[in-house]
Amino acid sequence: MTNFDPPLRLHLDGEALVSNWRALDARSGAARAGAAVKANAYGLGARAVVARLRDAGCRDFFVAHWGEAEAIADVVPPSWISVLNGIAQCDVTAARALGATPVLNTPEQLGMWRNAGGGRCHVMVDSGINRLGLAPQHIIDGALDGMQVDVLMSHLASADTDVAQNREQLGLFHQTVSATTAQRLSLANSAGIMLGADYHFDLTRPGISLYGGIARAGMEEWIKPVVRLSARILQVRNLPAGAMVGYNATHICAQETRVGTISIGYADGYLRAFSGKGRAMADGHALPVIGRVSMDIVTLDLNAAPALREGDWVELEYDLVTAAALTGLSQYELLTNLGPRFARVWG
Ligand SMILES: *Cc1c(COP(=O)(O)O)cnc(C)c1O
Repeated sequence: MTNFDPPLRLHLDGEALVSNWRALDARSGAARAGAAVKANAYGLGARAVVARLRDAGCRDFFVAHWGEAEAIADVVPPSWISVLNGIAQCDVTAARALGATPVLNTPEQLGMWRNAGGGRCHVMVDSGINRLGLAPQHIIDGALDGMQVDVLMSHLASADTDVAQNREQLGLFHQTVSATTAQRLSLANSAGIMLGADYHFDLTRPGISLYGGIARAGMEEWIKPVVRLSARILQVRNLPAGAMVGYNATHICAQETRVGTISIGYADGYLRAFSGKGRAMADGHALPVIGRVSMDIVTLDLNAAPALREGDWVELEYDLVTAAALTGLSQYELLTNLGPRFARVWG
C-alpha cells in the first residue's frame, strides 16, 4: 500500500475478464476451462485475477514457478494450482508442504516425486514443441505406471495458425493417452480452443485471451478488452518550430508544438518500440507520442487538445492487436511487461 496516488493507472475490467473466461469455457465444449495465471496473470495482477475467476467457477489455475503458486495459495485451495515448469530437488519438500500440484516434465522429476512419497501429480508430454515434457515413447513404455496422474497434458506449438503440426501433435497426444490412466486430459491453450472439439479433451488452459488477447482472427467478436492505461500529465510547455524533443533529439518540431510529459516508459512496459508511433487520447483527440520513449517518461504532442494542463489524465492507446502491429511486440509482451508502478484499478 502507498499513501501516494501514482501518476500511472492500469484500469482492469473485472466483468470483461469473467466474460472472457465464460466465453472460452463455453467454446471449450464438454471440457472445462482453467486459467493460465503465470507471470502475475500476464501482468494484470495474479491475486485479483484468480479471486475473480474462482468466483466465476474456474477450478484449475496454471502458474510457471513455485513462488507464483505460493503467492495465490491463500486465494484458492492449493490443490487447484498447477506448476507448469516442473520441480527441482531443492523445492520438493516445500512443494509438498504447499500442496500445489507439480506438472512433472522429465524422468528425473517422476523419480523425485515417487521418492518423496508420490501422490497426485500432473504430467506434461512433449508432442512436438520440444520445450518441456516427457517424450511420448517414454510414456508408452510405461514411465507413468503406478503413478497417480490427474491431468496428462501437452502443449501446442502453432495453434494460432492452420498448419499440419496441430494434427500431428494431436495424433501423438492420442497415442500417449492410450498408454496412461490419467484422470483428465488437456491440450488446448487459447488458440487451441478454436481448433475445435478434437482438441478440447477434459480441460482447456486459456491464458492470453482471458486478458483480452486475440489469439486467432475472429475472436475479437467475442473477446472483450480487459486493460486500459492512463497517465497523468507532469508538465506542459510550448515549443517553437525547430525545437528538439527527447533523447538523441529524434523529434524536431515541424511547427509550434504544445508538448505534454507523462510518466510511463520502458520501466512500465511501454517499450521504445512506441517511440514516434504510440498515441494517447483525450476527449477523442489523438495525441501522438513524439521523440523517444525513455525509461519512465514519454512526451506527447498536445496540439489537438491544447487545453490539457498539468495534472490532467490521458489514456494511452493500447488495443492489443493494433499495438502489436504498430510496434512489432506480441500481445503477450504488451501485457506481461506492464510493471509494478501502475495503480491497478479494478472496475
Ligand atoms: C502459457 C501456457 C498456456 C496459455 O497459453 P495462451 O497462449 O496464453 O492461451 C497454456 N498451456 C501452457 C503449458 C502454457 O505454458
